[in-house]
Amino acid sequence: MELESILLPGIPVQRPLVIAGPCSAETEEQVLLTAKALAAGGIKMFRAGVWKPRTKPGGFEGVGSQGLKWLKRVKQETGMYTLTEVATAKHADEALKQGIDTLWIGARTTTNPFAVQEIAEALRGVDIPVLVKNPVNPDLELWVGALERLNNVGLKRIGAIHRGFSSYNKKVVYRNSPHWNIPIELKRRYPQLPVISDPSHIGGRRDLIYLLAQQAMDMNFDGLMIEAHPDPENAWSDAAQQLTPDGLREVLLALVIRNGAVSDEKLSELRQQIDDLDSQMLELLARRMQVSQEIGIFKKEHGLTVVQNSRYNEILMKRMAQAREMGIRPEFVRMLLEAIHDESVRQQVEMMNRKE
Ligand code: PEP
Ligand code: MN
Repeated sequence: MELESILLPGIPVQRPLVIAGPCSAETEEQVLLTAKALAAGGIKMFRAGVWKPRTKPGGFEGVGSQGLKWLKRVKQETGMYTLTEVATAKHADEALKQGIDTLWIGARTTTNPFAVQEIAEALRGVDIPVLVKNPVNPDLELWVGALERLNNVGLKRIGAIHRGFSSYNKKVVYRNSPHWNIPIELKRRYPQLPVISDPSHIGGRRDLIYLLAQQAMDMNFDGLMIEAHPDPENAWSDAAQQLTPDGLREVLLALVIRNGAVSDEKLSELRQQIDDLDSQMLELLARRMQVSQEIGIFKKEHGLTVVQNSRYNEILMKRMAQAREMGIRPEFVRMLLEAIHDESVRQQVEMMNRKE
């Protein structure tokens, strides 16, 4: 992907890029009140949703196009840049017509390639930054696919928003599990792509925002999108997760932004140790695979099946108990062993069915 900066004129190149504003534009007064308080606190990018994708009908579905005019006023009266969510080509056309500065595609829309393509076509030939939220399901390729669809119509100023992934079990701590490895892999593949974290939608609760934002900063993400509302408890959407403008200011002030250079000697030495350990692990893995191949030959000669459940179970139980004693999380060791076992089985099956 050919990428260019998403930063608009006057926005400093520094971490974090902060985008703040209410989940939804509710009334003209609420929008302007929030915007003025945020602008006074130094915020330069103002978000508000006017079309709200709701899981079920009957809830507040946004004020629609009239909200764009309120955003226009925000821009005129505070000088802040404005952002809104678009889910259809029509939304994109209207937002462009009203001079919205940056668009974002919501998590539910990112899951739908037809919708993303339609929005992309509506933006063909337009030079506007567009941010793409991760899809609701933990599917990196779908996220990348949406970014590519935008890039393919010539949009270069694109970025990603990490807002967490939904799961069936709603009792977990977070509203949407972070699965940090997914945005980290995205960043590994596209180092130039800005990744903005949305701790409001990950946490789903005000009190979790600070810690999640700090984590995102420690993972070297580029920005934060945080919901703010003058009266969060009575917000028309996402009431549990919005901060007051003052609350947001406190969160931002408390963040520790680590921007040290990576040339430190001690760090290089520790990294050398990691490199050595990793290569030892790989050598061990290769040896393990060789032994597993020999077992495969034995199984073939003796008419045994590749998978022997009792043996696999024994391995898992033993290693997890051992891990616990060594202070390593057993669940982590289970995942690791599952991956190793999976590869062993694949190799043995392939070998057994090879025509000599
Ligand atoms: C939002 O930003 O208010 C929103 C609807 O978010 P998401 O698409 O991440 O659910
Ligand atoms: Mn919201």
